Amino acid sequence: RTVYVNGNFLPEEEATVSVFDRGFLFADAIYEVTSVLDGKLIDFSGHMTRLHRSLDALGMAMPMKDADLLAIHRELVSRNALSEGLVYLQISRGAEDRDFAFPGPDVPPTVVLFTQEKQIIESALVKRGQKVITTDDLRWRRCDIKTVQLLWASIVKNEAKAKGADDAWMVRDGYVTEGSSNNAYIVTTDGTIVTRDISNDILAGITRTAVLKCAAEIGVTVEERAFTVAEAKAAREAFSTSATGFVTPVIAIDGEPVGDGKPGPVAARLREIYIEMSRAAAI
Ligand code: PLP
Repeated sequence: RTVYVNGNFLPEEEATVSVFDRGFLFADAIYEVTSVLDGKLIDFSGHMTRLHRSLDALGMAMPMKDADLLAIHRELVSRNALSEGLVYLQISRGAEDRDFAFPGPDVPPTVVLFTQEKQIIESALVKRGQKVITTDDLRWRRCDIKTVQLLWASIVKNEAKAKGADDAWMVRDGYVTEGSSNNAYIVTTDGTIVTRDISNDILAGITRTAVLKCAAEIGVTVEERAFTVAEAKAAREAFSTSATGFVTPVIAIDGEPVGDGKPGPVAARLREIYIEMSRAAAI
């Protein structure tokens, strides 16, 4: 694989980052994941908008223009002959002697990008539907910033796997926040889609925005509000969204089937429309 580090395209074996990098020492870094379909980027501008927001929130400067980042994304897709998968981008506050205080403006950020192949369209998980467990959301209170501080998300994902499930829906004060790396939705018995409203408690998914537009297009009512675990278990249908999972049905919560325990029609329809829309707008 060819990867990008601070201005250079290199074979992955030759790419290095300092042991003093603040991303490594403090998780002082932010990231974006943009999916690739047919060798094209899905909703790149949405990911750039959120990137700016994450950087602003942490007082970090944009290391280069959006257009330059786009060129690097495309170059990596091309050099790796990537047809379907993702491009990962990480920007850290750079490398300096270990110190909690931020380094001065002379310290350049560390910019890393790499590609990863992933079957997005023909996904076994989408066909089968995911089983989720519910667990405490013990993350910090700035889940709206896409930082690489992903330890709790990683722990709950592993907790889910250990219990024979696929993912964990995290719960704060009795209400579902989101999945380990995706936004969470239910479809109530009257056919309304419910997903948590945007706040510091969740990451505002780029896919979430797009999928809610798709829902409006097909005339499905959406309520952006928190829902309880009990509501989720009584739902007709459940699903999650993310850049690389698109729309993925949820068929069980804590071992209890959701609806009839099969992937639901609303998720399937939204996935179809989302793919169609994304393909048409991909760059
Ligand atoms: N929530 C969390 C915690 C995430 O990590 C992600 C994506 O990685 C999402 C939601 C979904 O965001 P997006 O649709 O932009 O991928």
